[in-house]
Amino acid sequence: MEKLILVLNAGSSSLKFSLFSLAAAGEMRAAAVGQIEGLGTAPRLKVKDGAGERVADEQWDKSEVTGHAQALQRIAGLLRSRFQGSVLAGVGHRVVHGGPDYAAPLLVTPEAMRRLEDFIPLAPLHQPHNLAAIRAVQEVQPDLPQVACFDTAFHQTQERVAQFYGLPYEYFERGVRRYGFHGLSYEYIAAALPTVAPQIAGGRVVVAHLGSGASMCAMRDGRSVGSSMGFTALDGLLMGTRPGNMDPGIVLYLLQQEGMSAKQIEDLLYKRSGLLGLSGIGNDMRVLLASEEARARLAIEHFVYRIGRELGALAAVLGGLDALVFTAGIGENSGRIRELVCEKAAWLGIEIDREANEAGGPCISRTGGKASAWVLPTNEELMIARHTRQLLAL
Ligand code: ADP
Repeated sequence: MEKLILVLNAGSSSLKFSLFSLAAAGEMRAAAVGQIEGLGTAPRLKVKDGAGERVADEQWDKSEVTGHAQALQRIAGLLRSRFQGSVLAGVGHRVVHGGPDYAAPLLVTPEAMRRLEDFIPLAPLHQPHNLAAIRAVQEVQPDLPQVACFDTAFHQTQERVAQFYGLPYEYFERGVRRYGFHGLSYEYIAAALPTVAPQIAGGRVVVAHLGSGASMCAMRDGRSVGSSMGFTALDGLLMGTRPGNMDPGIVLYLLQQEGMSAKQIEDLLYKRSGLLGLSGIGNDMRVLLASEEARARLAIEHFVYRIGRELGALAAVLGGLDALVFTAGIGENSGRIRELVCEKAAWLGIEIDREANEAGGPCISRTGGKASAWVLPTNEELMIARHTRQLLAL
């Protein structure tokens, strides 16, 4: 009987899923990919099959599907009818925070769930929803093995000295330290490099994951040695709606001088800043690139400026740079942003090949430059499926 692995990525108002088939030998294949968006407001399910053909597009009443558990039941029903004769062998979850404990994926047990709940304050906007999805699966099928894959785990190889903030030492012991995120994306890229770009796989590589959340990771020999994100996913680069690195004095100023509450500041930093806040137009890079507005240009310039700055810092951590890799929504699709970033990185020896960049890579730099530049699509879902398969010995 064909075995399947379900991969879930639960957000506050969304539930993304991919169903992987273990039928064929070798690499797993996604047999269905879908998402429910608008949970709590206007839930809508969209599903495509493995070939990218649409198999479902349904709008639901918000009173019928109120949370993750009901959303999951709907998805389970749809998948059951489409994949009759197959058996679901396990579920892999993206869980944003593994805290200081977990450097690898984990089979979910009641004890592990209790520990993962301890990390909710470290990622209050993501972790509760990730855990809610695990609980929802337990409700639907209690004996189904589940695996938690952490966005922080890949960065646990960083040297201890890189994990500190300059706060009193006891804060480090209480978990206030640099963790780094987007680890599943970086792990996927690190695993792909030996095949796709063997000449750089063992070298000093900075990967720029530029999506609606954005971060950069310095890798040596495929292992994380530095990251632009730290304690939370607010740090580092300018993002779609988050400001990235900023003076912590700003938070004090907002609290003390502007009288903002912690909740209001959270909303400002997670939802109203970044490309959206600077441009006043939106957080979609495509819209900003197409706009004639001065503030759209400013937002793009500042986005690129911050990538250049972070690249310099990470190259310093690595003691030089052999390659820069672009990935995620903006990194994979926007030749213009890649070009602007590479121009800023000329001092590191990157010479962009404009034709290759237009064509989308994979190598987008001229041979002979001291460092090369690449475009590699990431696949966090496949990474989670691989971990789940391995941990469950499927
Ligand atoms: P996430 O998974 O973090 O939601 P993605 O990696 O899918 O994000 O990236 C989403 C972002 O990618 C969108 O906000 C959009 O701005 C950007 N994007 C997608 N396609 C393009 C494109 N052709 N040009 C520029 N930006 C793009």
